[in-house]
Amino acid sequence: MLHEVRLKRGKERKITRFYPWAQKGECQAEGLEDGQTARLVDADGKFLATGTWNSQSRFQFRVFSLTEEPLDEAFFLRRFQTAVSRRQALGFQGKDGPLASTDACRIVSSEADQVPGLVVDQYGPFLIVQVRSLGMERLRDQWLGPLIEATGCQGVMERSEMAGREEEGLGPRAGLMYGEVPEETEITENGVRHVVPLVHGLKTGFYLDQRETRRQFSARVRPGDKVLDAFCYTGAFSLAAANQGALAYGVDRHTLAIETARRSAALNKLEAVFVEANAFDYLVQDALGPYDWIVLDPPAIAKTAEKRDSLKWAVWRLVHDALPLLRPGGTMIVCACTYQLSVHETIETCRLAAGDRGVRIDLDRVTLQDLDHPAPVWFPEALYLKCVWITRT
Ligand code: SAH
Repeated sequence: MLHEVRLKRGKERKITRFYPWAQKGECQAEGLEDGQTARLVDADGKFLATGTWNSQSRFQFRVFSLTEEPLDEAFFLRRFQTAVSRRQALGFQGKDGPLASTDACRIVSSEADQVPGLVVDQYGPFLIVQVRSLGMERLRDQWLGPLIEATGCQGVMERSEMAGREEEGLGPRAGLMYGEVPEETEITENGVRHVVPLVHGLKTGFYLDQRETRRQFSARVRPGDKVLDAFCYTGAFSLAAANQGALAYGVDRHTLAIETARRSAALNKLEAVFVEANAFDYLVQDALGPYDWIVLDPPAIAKTAEKRDSLKWAVWRLVHDALPLLRPGGTMIVCACTYQLSVHETIETCRLAAGDRGVRIDLDRVTLQDLDHPAPVWFPEALYLKCVWITRT
């Protein structure tokens, strides 16, 4: 019998309504080691969920299942098979699916796929994995084999270098887990080829979550449009624009990203200009505007509620400094990739910045993370990426 974690009275409803976390202060456990698998029970001792415990984490109990079952290889195989078939149903995965506009996709999206603390991105035959919780770290031997079996991959590389691991009591960890993974690979998204730096790039190598926004963007960009792609990373938005005949300028401070962007442009025989610079400084010095399109896709900045104000301020400043560079009729795509800034707050931040500039804007549309990054409504935190499109009138 597994150890028990007892939930405070009144908190059971969110667990039975599919919320995957019991937070610090909501539950307690005795005689349990951090990272151990446990049963979550209500104040009367009735079973609620199977999951993992970590006293140090903000999310002390992570729910893996609402059934009493072992978190063994058979469990993970079922989870991964479900995750893979969801993507296949959406047309992701492989080159031959009905909607196969890409050969890369997020295969496992942590809580959103009921595998808390594990993110897996697939680039062709290679998987890049991020382990974000102590529970999943301890369960390595249970999930690695099933992951290989469910995906039929040739290699698995770990890139668990995110800051969030610290509060789980974990340091950064990276390295080959299985088979072979090259330093970089090539994927195709919407007819554009991209070099993906699997080993030295940011996160898992490529921002797959922006695929849908890039798709809608490339459907709107016209030949001859001038585009500023601030925080361009490996140039995915710039290249989508250049592929439509637009003149794109990408700015990022990451040397490898800029070099990779240039190589991807050459690979597609596309012309685009990539500049290694601090985007905040670049916006106030830019002499190439006005632009028809400006993409602002800064890093998350705020992962926790305490940092929300600094994020709002950063977004305000970016929009404020970029607006004079946008020609009337032009559209700016303002992205916020953290749950800490809602769609509503992102729009409000744009409104404040435009108001302070004395510029009129219309809301054009809002796009979200693509469907291989599911957003269960029970778990608001899963909806982290929103892109607010505003048009200068
Ligand atoms: N738009 C990109 C993803 C951007 S991720 C895509 O579609 O692929 C955020 C990027 O911001 C990273 O590449 C990071 O290197 C860059 N970055 C962070 N701070 C920056 C700064 N002050 N100036 C320029 N780039 C910055």
